[in-house]
Amino acid sequence: MKVMAQMAMVMNLDKCIGCHTCSVTCKQAWTNRTGVEYVWFNNVETRPGQGYPRRYEDQETWQGGWKLNKRGRLTLKAGGRFKKLITIFSNPKLPSLDDYYQPWTYDYETLTNAPLQEHTPVARPKSLTTGEDMKITWSANWDDNLAGAPELARQDVVLDEISDKVKFEFEQTFMFYLPRICEHCLNPSCAASCPSGAIYKRAEDGIVLVDQDRCRGWRMCVTGCPYKKVYFNHRTGKAEKCTFCFPRIEVGLPTVCAETCVGRLRYIGLALYDADRVSEAASVPDDKDLYEAQRGILLDPNDPEVVAAAERDGIPRDWIEAAQRSPIHSLINVYKVALPLHPEYRTMPMVWYIPPLSPVVDAVQGTGHDAEDRGNLFAAIDTLRIPVEYLAELFTAGDPEPVDLVLRKLAAMRSYMRDINLGREPDAAIPASVG
Ligand code: SF4
Ligand code: SF4
Repeated sequence: MKVMAQMAMVMNLDKCIGCHTCSVTCKQAWTNRTGVEYVWFNNVETRPGQGYPRRYEDQETWQGGWKLNKRGRLTLKAGGRFKKLITIFSNPKLPSLDDYYQPWTYDYETLTNAPLQEHTPVARPKSLTTGEDMKITWSANWDDNLAGAPELARQDVVLDEISDKVKFEFEQTFMFYLPRICEHCLNPSCAASCPSGAIYKRAEDGIVLVDQDRCRGWRMCVTGCPYKKVYFNHRTGKAEKCTFCFPRIEVGLPTVCAETCVGRLRYIGLALYDADRVSEAASVPDDKDLYEAQRGILLDPNDPEVVAAAERDGIPRDWIEAAQRSPIHSLINVYKVALPLHPEYRTMPMVWYIPPLSPVVDAVQGTGHDAEDRGNLFAAIDTLRIPVEYLAELFTAGDPEPVDLVLRKLAAMRSYMRDINLGREPDAAIPASVG
């Protein structure tokens, strides 16, 4: 066993209200500069939706170009004598600015200077980078307007004449938010794909950083990261990414996104893991076993054997104690309510998520009433608003069983807390003599 420490984050998705405060404060702190206008180290995606950059999860056909060949190398479809050269040196198609989004403003001049007339003129969108008029067909969080009911977004739908199919679609609508930062993976493919050796994983806390002096602007990391969390700075010609706010972490402060999160849903802490078993865990044959394999290499910081091994491997005593106090181990390994995002990418991501339960509605009994009371709960959980299959695609490589288990635990906790609040159960936090 080789014990290493890793900064990690767990986000509770039921608490995210999609306010984007985290993204804006992160941008102010880190990417409020020329060359990175389009960059969001932290972004909040609308789900279901295309993500940012759009369709980044479509690993097979994304941009029509890249996939892993049998020997695990990235190749472009190419022929003739250039094939070998391209296999070695090609940087398969990168996301374009349109895939991230073009920052824009509106042509307010037309609006404010227009003469008085019957109709108000439209303030057309104008690119912030070029100043030209834009025809916007997509942007990050565009999906807010479409969520799950694309038929309703058609302009020719007359609500009175709405078809049963559309009505059904409308009733099935669901939406939630997925905040994302770099995963600070245990097996980071950004670092593996960098020809200059500029990307490195800090030995002491696992934070993944880009050495700006060594970066030569190859951009292999941009395509190499399956989460698309490395960005190219067009001004400096270097790659940049989320730093897990390491200057703050080093003085005991949380990341900016966590500190400013309105929903207080980001739990940060140190995790201990067995570095000797990372490749073994990343290579389990079945994608569906990956999240459990990754859970398996995270160590119990309260186990005396782990503590002894950590001390032997040079982890300072106060760091071990920090890992013991950390919510990461409890949420991932004790309560088992947190799951990794896309474990099938095999980079061993270290930002995990508690999947959203959303309001539980009593669709089983057809009342449409709140079904969070103990009696209704377990019947209603089979008809959750957000399909378990959808969440499974995000968190367990398509296996619905572990997601279902987590949702049942969350539902049981919610119903128990409701009983306490309604005075039906004694509150364990209040001593009996007081209660
Ligand atoms: Fe690298 Fe991407 Fe993993 Fe971040 S999420 S460590 S950029 S591979
Ligand atoms: Fe969600 Fe918190 Fe970000 Fe608001 S600040 S979007 S609640 S993660």
